[in-house]
Amino acid sequence: MSVPLLDVNAQNLPLEDELKAVFEKVLRSGRFILGEEVEAFEKECAAELGTKHAISISSGTDALIIALMALGIGPGDEVICPSFTFFATAGSVYRTGATPVFCDVCPVCFGIDVESAESKITSRTKAIIPVHLFGQSSDLDSVKEFAKEHGLHVIEDVAQSFGATYKGRGCGTIGDIGCYSFFPSKNLGGFGDGGLVTTEDDELARKLLHLRNHGMHPKYYHSVVGGNFRMDALQCALLRVKLKHVGEYAAGRLRNAACYQEALSKLPGVVQASEADCGCIEGQAAKLADQDVRLILPVAYGHNGHVWNQFTLRVPGEGRREALRAHLTAKGIGCEIYYPVSMHRQECFAGLPAHALSNCGVSDTLSSEVISIPVYAELTTAQLDEVIAAIASFTD
Ligand SMILES: *Cc1c(COP(=O)(O)O)cnc(C)c1O
Repeated sequence: MSVPLLDVNAQNLPLEDELKAVFEKVLRSGRFILGEEVEAFEKECAAELGTKHAISISSGTDALIIALMALGIGPGDEVICPSFTFFATAGSVYRTGATPVFCDVCPVCFGIDVESAESKITSRTKAIIPVHLFGQSSDLDSVKEFAKEHGLHVIEDVAQSFGATYKGRGCGTIGDIGCYSFFPSKNLGGFGDGGLVTTEDDELARKLLHLRNHGMHPKYYHSVVGGNFRMDALQCALLRVKLKHVGEYAAGRLRNAACYQEALSKLPGVVQASEADCGCIEGQAAKLADQDVRLILPVAYGHNGHVWNQFTLRVPGEGRREALRAHLTAKGIGCEIYYPVSMHRQECFAGLPAHALSNCGVSDTLSSEVISIPVYAELTTAQLDEVIAAIASFTD
C-alpha cells in the first residue's frame, strides 16, 4: 500500500452529492461573479475565524498583494518577511514595487525571528509579514510589540493556517490584515485557486473591497488603480460545503500529528523539539550535541492552536535528509521538501540590497534538513502505521 502526501479525493468525494447540488444551483442561477454565494461565504468565514470583515480574493498570493496595496506599500518601501517561507510571501512584496527584506526564523516553531527582524530595520521599513508556517502561529506578541515600536503595519500570512489560534485568538485577526489561501493543499482546500483577506478595520475593509474590483466606484469611475482580485461565485459556493467541516479536518490532522509524536519519539535518536528552545538554534544545538540525534519532531506550543498543514521533520547530518527522502519514496510514502531553497538564496532576488539577503543562517539550516510527511485528516490507522514503520526502518 502506498501513502500519498495528500489525497484530496478522500476529503472531497464524501461530499460529492452536496458539491454537485451546489454546482447545479450556481449553474442554473447564471450568476458567476460576486453575488449572494460570495457574500454568504464571506459571512461564514468571518464567523468561523472570529473576524469583523472577511473578503474573498482570487488567490492567497493576490490576498497578500491586495493587502500591501491597501496599506499603500509600493516603490521605495521595504517589507520585512521571513526567508524560510513559500515564495508568494516575498514575491507579492516585490510585485508591488517594494523591496522584500529577509530575516531569519525560529528553528523550533519555524516562525519569524523578531530579533533578526530588528537587525533589518531601516528608515524605509513599512511593514512586517509574519508567516504562520505549517499550521502554527508565529510569536505574534513579539511581532506586534516590534511593529508598534517601529510604526510598521502587520500583514499575517495565514495561507497554511486557516483556523489556527494564538493565545486563544484567531491567527489572521491579530495584525492589520490576515491573508488566507484555499489552494487545494491548504487546510480549507478548494477546487482551484482562491483566497481571503480579513481585517477588523472598517476603512481598510472598504479599501480592500474597492481594490478587488479595479478600484471602481461608482461603476466605471476609478479613483485608484485596483485589479481583478475576485474569487468565483462557483468556488465560494463549493467551499461553503467544505467550510462546515474545517474543524473536523483540523482535528483529524491534530490526531495524526499526535500519533506520529507518540510513536516516532520512541525510536532511537528521535527527539521532540522543545518550546523552551524557541528562537535559539545554538541553544538547541548545544542541548542536542551530546545525543546522537537522527530526527527532530515538530512541536505545538502550549499557547498555540496548531492546525498541522504540514508535519515537518528535521533530519540533521550531511545528506541524511536526501537519504530519508529516497527511503520513503522507495516504500511508497509521499513526502516533500518545504522548502529546499530559502528566499534570500533565490536567483530572482540576487539583485536586492545586501541587507535584504544577509544573516539568514537558520533558514539555510532548515532548508537543508526539513522533510514533510503525510498528515492529512483522512489517513487511516493502517496508513499511519505504514509511515511510522517506514521511518523506523530508516537506519542511515
Ligand atoms: C500557499 C501559500 C501562499 C499563496 O497562496 P496561493 O493561493 O497559492 O496563491 C502564500 N503564502 C504561503 C505561506 C503559502 O503557503
